Amino acid sequence: MVLKLPLPPFCSAQLVDDLVLERANGQNEVFFNVLAAEWRQRVEFYVAERGNPESVPDWPQVAAHRKKFINLYDHPGENSVQRPILEELRKRTLQICPSCGEDGTPNTLDHYLPKAEYPQFAVTPANLSPMCDICQGQKGSETVDDEGRRLYLHPYFDDFIAEQVLRLTIGRPLNAPESFSLDPDPDLPEDIKALVVRHIGGLDLEKRYGPYFRDQYIRLLRLAQNARDKDQDFRALLPLFKEHHLDRGPNAWIHLFYAAVVDDAELVDYLADEELEEMR
Ligand SMILES: [Zn+2]
Repeated sequence: MVLKLPLPPFCSAQLVDDLVLERANGQNEVFFNVLAAEWRQRVEFYVAERGNPESVPDWPQVAAHRKKFINLYDHPGENSVQRPILEELRKRTLQICPSCGEDGTPNTLDHYLPKAEYPQFAVTPANLSPMCDICQGQKGSETVDDEGRRLYLHPYFDDFIAEQVLRLTIGRPLNAPESFSLDPDPDLPEDIKALVVRHIGGLDLEKRYGPYFRDQYIRLLRLAQNARDKDQDFRALLPLFKEHHLDRGPNAWIHLFYAAVVDDAELVDYLADEELEEMR
């Protein structure tokens, strides 16, 4: 599921200065000159507050002129200062969606705070991260719930996602589990747990990844049967599978799956000793 990404190596505040300077003598010179100091301050505040929509305010005074900001993102000039930055952010080297863990190169750049509501962050590097199309469709322009609490994890700023934040529980019966449920790690602070729950719910992750876990479970039963047919000790192999999949990140679905298997003593006994049936 979630993946912590390093903050892009571009200064978000410096980019404001460069954009304002670039507009000198252009048709929007006065507009951006008047706003320059406050714009920079707001971008600095975004970084200081780690993009949190609970504390980063919108900017009603520029709402009527949001297109001037959004155009910087939608139509960067050939030699504009933001163009190489946007190109770098879109380089598509990542092989996993940092918000859901979907395999493959994330197709879009997501504005963590959406550009329609927060046009001042339309080209702010700290506000732009890769995301898959499905997550972007699910996320839409929502940032907070009815109680004003933020909905989504921020791949650049939520440092705790560098550790395992989710636990999978494999349901029963063991020959054909009826459920695969996701919960936040019980050791997380309560407010973080609640945020993780909102992220899972907002991106519909339990439903989206149910079939994936079911497939992995079918594969697990076959692996167990194959190992036992060769007189291998499947009980001893399981921690190695978990360890092996850690290289995709502690919150990668495959790692969460094997972590759930290893922690489930009844399931381990079943895989190692009981009569196994092919699951369909
Ligand atoms: Zn995704």
